[in-house]
Amino acid sequence: MRILVVDDSRTITAVFGARLVEIGHEVVIAENGQIAVERFQVSAPDLVLMDIEMPVMNGFEAAKQIRAVEATQEWAWTPIIFLTASDTPEHLITAIEAGGDDFIPKSAPEGVVQAKMKAMARIASLRAELSLANRKLAAQASQDGLTGLVNRRYMDLRLDQQWSEAIRCGAPFGLLMMDVDHFKQFNDHYGHLAGDDCLRAIAATLLKMVEEVNARRMARDAFVARYGGEEFAMMLPRCAGEAVAEIARATVDAVRRQGIPHARNAEWGVITLSVGGAHMSRAEGALSPLFRRADANLYGAKKNGRNRVEVG
Ligand code: GH3
Ligand code: MG
Ligand code: MG
Ligand code: MG
Repeated sequence: MRILVVDDSRTITAVFGARLVEIGHEVVIAENGQIAVERFQVSAPDLVLMDIEMPVMNGFEAAKQIRAVEATQEWAWTPIIFLTASDTPEHLITAIEAGGDDFIPKSAPEGVVQAKMKAMARIASLRAELSLANRKLAAQASQDGLTGLVNRRYMDLRLDQQWSEAIRCGAPFGLLMMDVDHFKQFNDHYGHLAGDDCLRAIAATLLKMVEEVNARRMARDAFVARYGGEEFAMMLPRCAGEAVAEIARATVDAVRRQGIPHARNAEWGVITLSVGGAHMSRAEGALSPLFRRADANLYGAKKNGRNRVEVG
């Protein structure tokens, strides 16, 4: 474990520090509460052993600040054990109120110190596992299981924010609706599993495209979502009209160039994509007309032969 030992007495930090290092821990030392809060943020210790009475900032105040830091950074909880000169009930109560988890008299036998640290470390590691699991769940709730792209639910939430932001700034906004051509035939011919692989490959290409769009600053915070089935959507905030058309064409080309054989896509012989785009040079009003236009353009691209783009 990495342990932050905080005490204004050099004797105490030296004695505790040496003992802890001896049994295999890594030790970070701070001389008062203020330094402790700084070191806490830099070294992210697994446990804090802290004196109460210290100049500049006492242990109780430091504990409060450490808890405040944790709250903003979504860090897993770090146990704080106070080192006290006495073991009066008042000290215990104040220590817990300040956000501490336990307290140990400085005079406590070595074995007691070890045992308390062990118990705290056990709880801390459970908390860390729990917070990791929670983060995973939160990520899964916004992700499409097959392709790993963000899902429709996430798209709707994120899009709301992006659209409000665009309206506030009077910024341009672009949108692409994309649909794989003759995909039912692909499934019928190659099987559903091959169809799944194909959707994953297309998703990877779309993701690469959107990363390039962001890297080249053709849009700000562009992202691509699995809209449903074999349909995808790309959001292009702050994207100029010509750029929307260019990105749409590049996407259609990139998918065709993947060269995934599709015997029943008679004209091209490989998997192709149709794209409908819509653009507004100054965001205003509702978002739904933009979607409807992109949809109508997608329908047009299909009708006019597929493997193509209609934007406007
Ligand atoms: P079009 O060119 O007009 O878009 O024709 P299409 O065959 O692509 O369109 P249609 O809507 O008739 O069929 C879509 C197909 O996409 C049907 C469905 O089985 C398939 N599909 C949707 N989601 C998945 C999926 O997750 N995996 C696989 N393998 N197929 C899927
Ligand atoms: Mg002191
Ligand atoms: Mg479709
Ligand atoms: Mg289709």
